[in-house]
Amino acid sequence: MSSSPLPSHVPTLVVGAGLAGLGCARTLVAAGEEVHVVGASHAVGGRVRTDDVEGFRLDRGFQVLLTSYPEIRAQVDLQRLRLHPFRPGSRVFIDGRTEVLSDPWRNPGSAFASLAATVGTLSDKMKTAKLRSSLRGEALPSLLESSDIPTEEELRTLGFSERFIDGFFRSFLGGVFLERDLDTTARFFRYLFRLFSDGDTALPEKGMQALPEQLAEPLEGRITLEAPVQVAEAGRVTLRNGTEIRADRIVIATDAGAAVGLVGGAPRAAKPTLNTYFDAPEAPFHEPMLMLDGEGTGPVNHLAVLSNVAPSYAPPGRVLISANAVGAAASLGDAFAAAAREQLERWFGEQVREWREIRTYHVANALPAQPVGSLDASRAPELSRDGILICGDHTLHGSLQGALESGRRAAEQLLGATAGAAE
Ligand SMILES: Cc1cc2nc3c(=O)[nH]c(=O)nc-3n(C[C@H](O)[C@H](O)[C@H](O)COP(=O)(O)OP(=O)(O)OC[C@H]3O[C@@H](n4cnc5c(N)ncnc54)[C@H](O)[C@@H]3O)c2cc1C
Repeated sequence: MSSSPLPSHVPTLVVGAGLAGLGCARTLVAAGEEVHVVGASHAVGGRVRTDDVEGFRLDRGFQVLLTSYPEIRAQVDLQRLRLHPFRPGSRVFIDGRTEVLSDPWRNPGSAFASLAATVGTLSDKMKTAKLRSSLRGEALPSLLESSDIPTEEELRTLGFSERFIDGFFRSFLGGVFLERDLDTTARFFRYLFRLFSDGDTALPEKGMQALPEQLAEPLEGRITLEAPVQVAEAGRVTLRNGTEIRADRIVIATDAGAAVGLVGGAPRAAKPTLNTYFDAPEAPFHEPMLMLDGEGTGPVNHLAVLSNVAPSYAPPGRVLISANAVGAAASLGDAFAAAAREQLERWFGEQVREWREIRTYHVANALPAQPVGSLDASRAPELSRDGILICGDHTLHGSLQGALESGRRAAEQLLGATAGAAE
């Protein structure tokens, strides 16, 4: 996606070229509206970016695409992304050995294929199946309005064993919520539990950035990159370099922190994450599965051999591994890689000494914090004091789905206002 010249005036200006901004602008363009997008960075995608380093595809922080996200299904040509799915289920390192949970989400009937797996009891398996079936009976959006309690309390109320909560849920959901205390609202847990059950968890052949690049295609000629906005007020924005753009309507589609800086509002806590990519001569295991820290020792919460899932993520003959930290371990900074090696030697033995660190990514504001009281499906998009529309994952929920949907809804709100004014 090349950067286009800035207009001096545009009917609708979208600030931010992440999924929310792209989702908003695409919807407006599809309705025949004139729109321009300005993004601070030198590429589209916001938090969804991929670096090509020595033939490895490094997503900026380990992330995955769920094919069941309704907004992705509606707005994205999944075939063209040439997706590579993870195998449902997880490998769990617990009590000094690896156990395989064959599919606790998608196919609970075959869950715990390895009867030797001790991390979950038969009762946990049955409860998983029951929960899945009851959630599949609900309309998806209603799950975001269901009872608002912390996820940990929800799991206890559902009767899961402490060993299953600590050995499986804390690390699996820790990787999704970016926190292991499981104080994220159970609304989000139920919603995602359902979505994990309904489709594949996958990586695009060319890396996660292929997703925003495809979303940006209808916006060719309408996006200016490396154009950070300094001031946004009714009717105009001023870029950091002093350039002014007048706009009849402005949409702020940045992350929460930048939105507060531009239009005010209450600051929102964010969850950090950190991951180190290793180049290895051999894969420590061959299944395209996620591996979890069932012991809770950290600092690695979850690990993926990405080239087992998508061979295009590594050059021929090499293996790409992502070791990921959440919660307190995400603040380890450059000390993480060495601490991760120590832990992973317990998982995989001496082969870890041959792994070479390619790069470590520190993502300070990876996800908005989503405790009880933070998630209200009917809230997005929001209006600032001077009538500027605000969208982004922080206005709905922290996910690709939340970002894209909030952008589309912002566009529909503008289109509704235009239609109303014309009547
Ligand atoms: C490491 C990591 C792992 C994740 N894993 C998953 C996952 O597995 N599955 C999932 O569904 N979600 C995941 N997410 C969440 C998902 O990526 C985000 O929720 C989503 O991408 C947010 O999109 P957004 O458009 O709301 O915000 P952003 O992507 O933050 O986009 C905001 C845009 O605004 C721009 N901007 C900011 N300030 C200005 C300014 N002043 N002027 C102009 N432009 C500005 C930024 O450059 C950026 O382009 C993950 C996120 C991270 C970081």
